[in-house]
Amino acid sequence: MNNTATDAYFPGNGRYKPRQLFSVGNRYFLYNCWDSVYAEMEESCQEELRGQGDALGESAVSEAMEKAIARTFLKWPRDDQGRIIRADDPAHVQAALDKVAPEQGGLMLHVAHVCNMKCRYCYGHGGTFGGSAGLMSEETAFAVIDWYTGRAAAQEKKQIDISFMGGEPLMNFELMKKIILYLAEHFADWKKKYSMTTNGYFLTDEVIAFLIEHEVGILISFDGPPDIQNFNRPLVNGEDSYAAIVPKLKKLLALRPETYVRATLCNGVDLDLVEAGLREIGFRKTFLLPAMESILPDDYYAETASAGDRSNIVRDFCQRGEKFLQATQNRNSAAVREAAAEKNFFTTIAPLADNDNFLAVFSRRRKFYYCGIGITLLVVDADGVRYPCPSMVGTEKYQLGQIGTAWDNSFWRRSAVLESNECVECFCRYSCGGGCRFDSLSVNGDLFTPNPDYCRTKRETLKYAIYTISQLTGDDITWLRQENILSAAAPNFDF
Ligand code: SF4
Ligand code: SF4
Repeated sequence: MNNTATDAYFPGNGRYKPRQLFSVGNRYFLYNCWDSVYAEMEESCQEELRGQGDALGESAVSEAMEKAIARTFLKWPRDDQGRIIRADDPAHVQAALDKVAPEQGGLMLHVAHVCNMKCRYCYGHGGTFGGSAGLMSEETAFAVIDWYTGRAAAQEKKQIDISFMGGEPLMNFELMKKIILYLAEHFADWKKKYSMTTNGYFLTDEVIAFLIEHEVGILISFDGPPDIQNFNRPLVNGEDSYAAIVPKLKKLLALRPETYVRATLCNGVDLDLVEAGLREIGFRKTFLLPAMESILPDDYYAETASAGDRSNIVRDFCQRGEKFLQATQNRNSAAVREAAAEKNFFTTIAPLADNDNFLAVFSRRRKFYYCGIGITLLVVDADGVRYPCPSMVGTEKYQLGQIGTAWDNSFWRRSAVLESNECVECFCRYSCGGGCRFDSLSVNGDLFTPNPDYCRTKRETLKYAIYTISQLTGDDITWLRQENILSAAAPNFDF
């Protein structure tokens, strides 16, 4: 064993957790937290490794253990003097953080501070974000667009990336249309990317045709079967929403079958039931996301049975993993696609399939941030005020001033995975990025202290993801790539 190398990997008195030993069923793993790669080992090896503690590398180890360690730790890139480049080396960290520049971000435009629905878990006070209901004016919108395109031109970037948000953005469809047509006419040779999140109620034929013609990405918010959708997401007048929306969704799906739907999960709901409900409508791609319990209104739990239970998410993840595995082994492409259609499952599992591709892991996968809050995200509310995150719209403390004014984002560039006491000791920090800051704030009143329920779920699902992927053979992974289920390139994270 090369002591110098292992000392570098197991600094002992270092602040950051270097590795994690864990087992799932009768399989035993060593996980390299620096690089988010794993090795499987015998149980006896794991015992031996536990005995070594942080002094690992200073005494003799068995051949089997050395092999397991070598697999996760010894392929590291080295600098020109042969020294191993540590993931948490300050110079490397700084270089990675410097890559995250504000100009890389898209623009989130809150075109409507009003909504036609009254969802029980809405963090935006029914779309008004605590202010008065209203639509973004044309004057404000074009002032933002001029500033945004002017800034891109100054940076010699002919790129436009706009997400239309609300409230319900389609309540201001006329403005969306004007913006998109204006940009098509005046910035014809620029690259354009548009997206929107909608409850689907206002998807008329005309709207659908326009969105498709202009390649606007659409994320539908919808919670599954009628009883769940109607309970969680009633119309603003209290009436049921399922029957009013589903025919419109079907029209959209007939033209764009790959449309993603995001279901918000509350109250320990059965995920199979939610997914089956979404599939029945015709969705093939799902994104199942737990509601932030901390911001649910007080009366929510009074009306429902249980609170804050995320064990269903872990259970669903394991079941999905089993289905994914079996379908892969049977070379059943449709069944694999179905199991992998849930976004969170797929984005957890896919990078692990590249376990041997250390350089890809090193250069592309490490998440210092959970999202682009305050850095790549540029959120502008209906009055033209800038915020770091869409969930913070309306909170005066987090305003970043009017568009056009400079702002110092050094605070937001601080990385939770490098600074939070919880994250530095967490084995999945670089595949997590430190959790949603808004969730941390809502639960703990602190942007750097994550929600423990979220963390438990994240850690458990990562272990199951490793357990699942470790059972795939090289042939399985090759087949998954041939089928285009796993793309050769790593999926995009935040940067
Ligand atoms: S937010 Fe939680 S799960 Fe994520 S890195 Fe921090 S401690 Fe780990
Ligand atoms: S902090 Fe949370 S709510 Fe805000 S942008 Fe990031 S993920 Fe979204």
